[in-house]
Amino acid sequence: MRSKLWKWKYERLSEIVIENLSHRAIDAEYLDDSSRVVETLKRIIDKGSTVAVGGSLTLQQTGVIDFLRKYDCSFLDRYSTSDKQKLSEIFKSAFTADYFLASVNALTVKGEIVQLDGFGTRVAPMIFGPEKVVLIVGMNKIVADMDSALKRIKTIAPMNARRLKLHTPCVSTGVCMDCNSTERICESYVVIADSNARRNRYTVILVGEDLGL
Ligand code: SF4
Repeated sequence: MRSKLWKWKYERLSEIVIENLSHRAIDAEYLDDSSRVVETLKRIIDKGSTVAVGGSLTLQQTGVIDFLRKYDCSFLDRYSTSDKQKLSEIFKSAFTADYFLASVNALTVKGEIVQLDGFGTRVAPMIFGPEKVVLIVGMNKIVADMDSALKRIKTIAPMNARRLKLHTPCVSTGVCMDCNSTERICESYVVIADSNARRNRYTVILVGEDLGL
């Protein structure tokens, strides 16, 4: 739980980030509390639509996965199976979903959305596919610039590798060893810089808490 001063900082910072995202044709809003994420999604996601998600601790922490399982939508639930064939079908179906929900690895104050992915099942539909992409972002993921974003990503990646029970060198050392493991989670670096060609496709929901890793 952050102190009132952090809440104050997050609110002020969110105003700058939202303004900068708007110049990139990316919608954004700020919630001071993660308990409001689900009610916000009810407003954004049309009933009867198809919804896919990227792998995300934030979506789990904020109750979004549980919400989608009960909501009046066709949820392509990547967490419902560990069967590789079924998972592959879910990942491919995500491209034709109406909505894609995920979080980000870092978001610069200037509004650049910075992602790191292993096989691309999260970043690929984020770039191409669903008409609407909704990103839920704890304010702990806001960074000053691209250098800070890359530094953050490399600091966090070993913890994600451990969380996912992978067999990468960083799980032993706690720091990135720039490996060439077959389980490497750092294969694709993607920056979403702008959405003017598809205005308002993205909605960023900033949350005044520390979420995810
Ligand atoms: S490159 Fe390899 S060692 Fe470095 S964080 Fe990624 S998975 Fe871990």
